Amino acid sequence: MDNKPQLIIRMGSHAEKDYILKLGKQFDGIIIGANIVEATAGATASLIGQKLKMPYYIDPMTYVFGCNLEGIRSEQKKDGKTVVDYKRAYRRLAPELGELFSNTLKKNKPISPEDFTPTVLKQVCQKVINYQLKRLHTEFEKDEEYEKYADSIPKPAGIFSPYFFIRSKEWFNLFLRLSKTTADIKPEPPVYSVLCADYEMLIEDSFIDKAVAEIPKTGVNGIWLWFSKFNEWTVREEYLRAFKSLVKQLSEKGLEVYNRHGGYFSLALNKFGMKGISHGVGYGEKKDVLQIKGPPNAPIVNYYLPDMYKRFGVPDIEICLHGLGITTPKDFHEKICGCVICKGVVKDSILDFQRFGDKHLATPKSKRESQTSAAAKRCRFHFLVNRIIEKDFIGGNDLAAIIQKISGAQEKWDEQLLIINNSNHLIRWKAVLSS
Ligand SMILES: [Zn+2]
Repeated sequence: MDNKPQLIIRMGSHAEKDYILKLGKQFDGIIIGANIVEATAGATASLIGQKLKMPYYIDPMTYVFGCNLEGIRSEQKKDGKTVVDYKRAYRRLAPELGELFSNTLKKNKPISPEDFTPTVLKQVCQKVINYQLKRLHTEFEKDEEYEKYADSIPKPAGIFSPYFFIRSKEWFNLFLRLSKTTADIKPEPPVYSVLCADYEMLIEDSFIDKAVAEIPKTGVNGIWLWFSKFNEWTVREEYLRAFKSLVKQLSEKGLEVYNRHGGYFSLALNKFGMKGISHGVGYGEKKDVLQIKGPPNAPIVNYYLPDMYKRFGVPDIEICLHGLGITTPKDFHEKICGCVICKGVVKDSILDFQRFGDKHLATPKSKRESQTSAAAKRCRFHFLVNRIIEKDFIGGNDLAAIIQKISGAQEKWDEQLLIINNSNHLIRWKAVLSS
């Protein structure tokens, strides 16, 4: 049996397809938000149905309709005027998910647990299942050129039950009802529910006990965890411990457990039952539920330092190279990263490392320099290649070796204060993984 943790890559926009096409087979699957499907339906259908040939999931994004709807509004040009309206992708998605969702936008009133009478509950679950099973087929069927391929699109690797952000007992009960109703319909692919709550819930009295007692009874095959603002690098040890305990107990009850937005710590929890994680091509290892809009402007994509399982600015790492005795590309590949990307970039001299941070004035009017898109691309590819290496390492080694590797990195970087002073997460991770 393959014990490797799974890595399901989340495509945040169609522009990211290059990464996925290049590394495709090394991921265990791809997950696409229904809003992305609606924004670029034809392109998504041909990517999933023809080009990729890998397991896929469609995230129905239902939670968005239960949050503050401002998050999905934007300024738009209409008949020469600027108006504020719901984004086109969500305007298209709502009717696909059913009347409850269309009415939400019509009435400008978010969905609430009281909306779910037994009839509505059943309708919503059925609609959300159908959407995931059929949306891409419909897209092919509409197109003369692609029509003949419609039947060749495989079914998704799993079906998500509709889900919302849990912030009270009522929302938790709704989560259980939606999970059970979807599981009872028994669509052919396995059913997963999404436990989406604030990370503070992790340490709330009896939350974990209740989740562990109630979720298996719904009949779902697995669960995707999404704790808003759960930041593996900064949260206190007690949150990491609670998270580990939740993963362990749910998996012991026979559920497949995934983290919707996770990093190396989540991946290492594979040793405690975590089946897999997902994140984006260059970000998304943590995500705030209420921040639906993406980050303003393109932020700098920092260099992922494999020893620390964390990103750092290129200049900060550069300062440390000398102290680590790194003077040649060969040293760099041995002590920092020897991935295929780094071998291509750091070739003639260690000064080449700066190419991960290349900056320019994006337009003649730009006041400040920003990272070039080529540099950002290098950083993303290097990160993804390393994540795949990490996945294989965890799959092929025992917990002691994982902990040992963290200790080794702490010793190696001990005198590089710029880095080690920003790496206290390693202390917490080690403590939680060890006991
Ligand atoms: Zn690398």
